[in-house]
Amino acid sequence: MHCPFCGAIDTKVIDSRLVSEGNHVRRRRECITCEERFTTYESAELVMPRIIKTNGIREPFNEDKLLAGLTKALEKRPVSIEKVEEAVNRIKANLRSTGEREVASRDVGEQVMKELRGLDEVAFVRFASVYRSFKDLNEFRQEIDRLSRDTTT
Ligand SMILES: [Zn+2]
Repeated sequence: MHCPFCGAIDTKVIDSRLVSEGNHVRRRRECITCEERFTTYESAELVMPRIIKTNGIREPFNEDKLLAGLTKALEKRPVSIEKVEEAVNRIKANLRSTGEREVASRDVGEQVMKELRGLDEVAFVRFASVYRSFKDLNEFRQEIDRLSRDTTT
C-alpha cells in the first residue's frame, strides 16, 4: 500500500476494525517515511456467479429479485425480515462457494425451496407450487419427501 502523500511503499497499520456488519475492514495506517496518516477500507471481493436461465440466457445475479421472491412467498407469514435476510445471505454464500462462474437458475430455486422449507411450511408450498408447477399432488408429495430426506442427512 503506497502512501498517498509521499508515495513511499512502507506503511504500518495502527488500528483495524470491522465496519458495516463485518463486511468491511477499516484500517488506519501511518506512513513510515513521512508519518502522515490515512484510512483504507477493505472488503472481500464478492463475486457472484452469473445465472443461467432455463432459456439459456445468462444474467447477473440479482439479490433484489431473490429477496423479492422469498418475501412474496412469505407474505403475511410470521417470519421476520431478519430471518429472510439470513436466508438470502446463506444462499449467496452457497452460490459463491460453488466456485462456478455460472449457476443454473434451477439450482438457485432449489436453494430457495430448502430455505423456505426451514422457515415456513406454507411459504414453501406457495413457492414450490409456482416454481415447480407440479403436475399433480403426488409429484408434489414426492418432492417434499425428497427435500425432507435432504435436510435430515
Ligand atoms: Zn508518506
